[in-house]
Amino acid sequence: MIRAYKFLMRPTVGQVHALAEMLRDHCSLYNGALQERRDAYRHVSKTTVRYGRQSAQLKEIRAFDPDRQGRWSFSSQQATLRRLDKAFAAFFRRVESGETPGYPRFRGVNWFDTVDFPKDGDGCRWDSTPHDPVTRVRFQGVGHVRVNQHRPVVGKVKTVSVKREGKRWYVILTAEQPEPEPLPATGSVVGIDMGIANFLADSGGEFVPNPRHGRKAAAKLEAAQQALSRCKRRSNRRRKAVRRVADLHRKVRRQRLDHAHKTALNLVREHDFIAHEDLKIRNMMRTPTPRPDPDRPGGFLPNGAGAKSGLNKSINDAGWGVFLTILTSKAESAGREVIAVDPRNTSRACPPCGHIAKENRPTQETFHCVACGHKAHADTVGAINVLRAGLARRNARKG
Ligand SMILES: [Zn+2]
Repeated sequence: MIRAYKFLMRPTVGQVHALAEMLRDHCSLYNGALQERRDAYRHVSKTTVRYGRQSAQLKEIRAFDPDRQGRWSFSSQQATLRRLDKAFAAFFRRVESGETPGYPRFRGVNWFDTVDFPKDGDGCRWDSTPHDPVTRVRFQGVGHVRVNQHRPVVGKVKTVSVKREGKRWYVILTAEQPEPEPLPATGSVVGIDMGIANFLADSGGEFVPNPRHGRKAAAKLEAAQQALSRCKRRSNRRRKAVRRVADLHRKVRRQRLDHAHKTALNLVREHDFIAHEDLKIRNMMRTPTPRPDPDRPGGFLPNGAGAKSGLNKSINDAGWGVFLTILTSKAESAGREVIAVDPRNTSRACPPCGHIAKENRPTQETFHCVACGHKAHADTVGAINVLRAGLARRNARKG
């Protein structure tokens, strides 16, 4: 199993300069190789220049230009040529299938943001100062760059890439990890209902509270943003305020991820089968339909869109999309089954008697069946219905 990691680098001023030159020179190599292919293609002979030939010229190019091209790793340059080769392969594939794709383009230096090193130890070295508590990554022509390694890297590092995003520099690793062992079967199935008051409710009557990092941090963030707007341009205080806003954003993201990981892990440990609502359908249902005003042709009555957009914000806060992605991937590696179901009617149907009515749900939190009198927490009812729908779908698939 291959896993990717992305860490912020903390290069010195000199290293930033060298990294920028590394990008610039790889970019000009890319464009030069593209020019050569273009010229050959436009020539009457319609010659196709291939990767092998361009790669064979690298030695010469490096010898001819020792201060620029000669400084960098041979392997990262090959990787750049291979990237161009892929762009051409895609171009020709589309031409053959009858499309009219755009010819591969030259890249401006601002659009060329990545240099790949296909193998750790070749032109680069991850964790180049293993005895120092500070993690560093070494690049040929740049030196040992400090890395903000916020989580451990598991497995053997295969490839290393440098990426520029705005003013930040990142190192991206891929590591080979052993396939996780499937967990033993527990014989348990569960449905989950994702909510606002609680992050989720399960069909067994348990609740996972919503941490609402977004809400708590939103107040802090707002204050930080106001402080920022009061700062003079290009002042020291402003720089600090900008950093504080960015730090708060990052903190929220990290907390949300932690919470999602923990919640998903618990579910996957305990259950063989997990059913959840299909978020795409659910989001469609949440978008209120316009209500035409009968007294005013072409006009619309209020449809509660304001209140719903507040709700959408909390939905985003809860980060269900993030959670479901994590849940699905964890379930897959543990050999568990996850099914998304159509959430329509899951909040209105009565589990014991099957009666479906909007009136079954007098408030956001309570479920009270108007036919049989069954009473329960509305989210638990939702989760039970989700589980039923999930099991029905599974059986339909198998049958
Ligand atoms: Zn009922």
